[in-house]
Amino acid sequence: MTARLTVLGCAGTYPGAERACSSYLVEADGWRLLLDCGNGSLSNLQRRCDVAEVDAVVISHLHPDHFVDLFGLYYALRFHPDGPRSVPVHAPRGAFEHLGLMLDDLETFGRHCRFSVAAAGDVLELGPFTLRLSAAAHPVETLASRVEVDGRVLAYSADSGPTPGLADTARDADLFIADATWLERQGPLPEALHMTGRQAGRQAAAAGASRLLLSHLFPATDPAEVAAEATEVFDGEVLVATDLLELAL
Ligand SMILES: [Zn+2]
Ligand SMILES: [Zn+2]
Repeated sequence: MTARLTVLGCAGTYPGAERACSSYLVEADGWRLLLDCGNGSLSNLQRRCDVAEVDAVVISHLHPDHFVDLFGLYYALRFHPDGPRSVPVHAPRGAFEHLGLMLDDLETFGRHCRFSVAAAGDVLELGPFTLRLSAAAHPVETLASRVEVDGRVLAYSADSGPTPGLADTARDADLFIADATWLERQGPLPEALHMTGRQAGRQAAAAGASRLLLSHLFPATDPAEVAAEATEVFDGEVLVATDLLELAL
């Protein structure tokens, strides 16, 4: 069994011409797990599979660039050509009500997107995946995740400033997807919001991760500059996410 990651969106905060907002498809053993569902990512998802083939969705937090395409997913499942479909959605407390404010029929929404509350400390068994959720450093409740599958580890910082908990989440990870929204030269920068390339590199080094996938870059940011910051402080392989990038775990 080879687990595989496909980046469906990696733009920070708002989409760019070539980048949708955050979403990652993780596949193993015929199972498909979607981490976040940011604006624009549903289009990329459909380049890889039918929407009905997603087995579970985990939403890291309730910022629009991480959940907005759940609305499109809902309608795509509800009006699926093979008949109505549904998917479990694990999300922070209040997500269903929050998203429901945009819709006129909560009951139908809940039938197709079956929400359950996820919180830091939870361990979710989803098909072949074991997810360990932890608290990221961000202004709203945000869940970083450690995904274990077949002896491999994928870690996802979600949106986060530097915090010691992230190194635990990504401990010895084969691949660490880290928020690298900013560059050091853009400082001074707010705390507990996002990381620079250098901060992401430091977290990866502290975690002992093998590979670092820098993501959530602002669309205007030069990927090479972010990568250079991380490479200065992290000895492992440094990659910069692009939409539809595929990596074996
Ligand atoms: Zn974000
Ligand atoms: Zn955010």
